[in-house]
Amino acid sequence: MVKQGHMSATIIAIDGPAASGKSTLARLIAQHHGWAYINTGQMYRAVAYFGLLSNLTLPEDEFAAIGIAKSLCFSIKNRTLLVNGEDLSEKICLPIVEKVVSAYAAVPDIRSLLVSKQRDIAKTQSVVMDGRDIGTVVFPDATLKIFLVARAEVRAKRRHQELQDRGLDNLPPYEEILRDIEQRDAQDRERTVSPLIQASDAILVDTSTLSVQETIALIETLLKETPA
Ligand code: C5P
Repeated sequence: MVKQGHMSATIIAIDGPAASGKSTLARLIAQHHGWAYINTGQMYRAVAYFGLLSNLTLPEDEFAAIGIAKSLCFSIKNRTLLVNGEDLSEKICLPIVEKVVSAYAAVPDIRSLLVSKQRDIAKTQSVVMDGRDIGTVVFPDATLKIFLVARAEVRAKRRHQELQDRGLDNLPPYEEILRDIEQRDAQDRERTVSPLIQASDAILVDTSTLSVQETIALIETLLKETPA
């Protein structure tokens, strides 16, 4: 339990590299317990998406990118992130956004703005939050911290399947998806501010050979074993 203001809330932090299955698991766990779910990756993606729409290029247009992060209003409805009241999930999951999002996420002022919005949304409720720095920076006192990994080839295969299932036009080949995932991980790991790193008290879960149901069962067991 984490004391937040006058109430105690459960906070589950799920961090890990790209396409490791964080959002699928986090959403299901949140649904199961009736908790909120916050996909922080979508917040960074939203900033990058609006940056693309405004033809911004980083690092030259950093100031304008920070302005976008400031201007966006995030809220949660039925465990879906709304950006200025709109569900942008389909638009921000596109490969074109993924190619630039890490550059936006490396800007310190963008991070501090989004982290404060993430803490605000979670202020009054139990949440499952997934991202890269939830256990290290956003909620260092989280109830349970999971660092979710899988081999890059497995992640690329899952991501390729997901895009195919969405019926994406111009589906990139598997090799390109693998390369993009590896590049994004490297950028997220090597940045100076809040890099992707396992918190010292996070539990490493490797899903390379686990199904979604097996992973959920494992996390639920870890949650039961976590002292209240
Ligand atoms: O989780 P997802 O893959 O949607 O995240 C997209 C990108 O947003 C990541 O590659 C990373 O650059 C950034 N991100 C971050 N910190 C978070 C969540 C996402 O830097 N907490």
